[in-house]
Amino acid sequence: ERAPVVTIDGPSGAGKGTISQLLAERLGWKLLDSGAIYRVLALAAIHHNVELDNEDSLSLLAAHLDVQFITGNAVHGIKVVLEGEDVSTDIRSQECSNAASKVAAYPRVREALLRRQRAFSEAPGLIADGRDMGTVVFPNTPAKIYLTASAEERAQRRYNQLQDNGFDVNIDRLLSEIKERDDRDTNRSVAPLVPAEDALIIDTSGIGIEEVLDIALTHIQTKL
Ligand code: C5P
Repeated sequence: ERAPVVTIDGPSGAGKGTISQLLAERLGWKLLDSGAIYRVLALAAIHHNVELDNEDSLSLLAAHLDVQFITGNAVHGIKVVLEGEDVSTDIRSQECSNAASKVAAYPRVREALLRRQRAFSEAPGLIADGRDMGTVVFPNTPAKIYLTASAEERAQRRYNQLQDNGFDVNIDRLLSEIKERDDRDTNRSVAPLVPAEDALIIDTSGIGIEEVLDIALTHIQTKL
């Protein structure tokens, strides 16, 4: 890696997005939202009528994906532009969440997106948010964090987030979808959701953002 990298992995709704964005701002570093890449690939597949179980077509699409990430801030987040169209909101839908975890299960899709993700590593540093940042994409960095929380708490956070984005959702359905997605992400054969051996695990259930941020910053200072 050319620049220092901090990896933030964990399941959906553990607070990775918020913490990653705040860390990137605090440190003045770049941010990689790797989930957004899988989401945008899923959206592109839907737009181009590529079947979500066609690994050949999906990996080809992944290799040629015309996507731009425009850095935002804690309030507005990252702007995601697919083929010239702002899809920042579209990729947050439940349909895209579920489709993303399906396309992400294919080894050749992941392989096709590897270089694109590593290219985010730039001076002065990178905060990399995802599922396999510490295990696969940036395995050599010493600064790894794994955020987790109970499924119920994560469903509640996702619910609030979706409501804020104008999506009307049912909390029970959200909880069962989160469990389903966890299951798929944890049990897939490539890059399964698992903490890196050398990651600091933080359970964010019932603790505030500021406290998580403090723990993370202390860990980063110790490791880098
Ligand atoms: O983090 P986010 O919820 O946006 O990720 C959407 C989906 O993309 C996840 O459920 C997961 O299946 C996939 N993903 C992945 N590897 C990453 C980031 C996301 O497989 N590094």
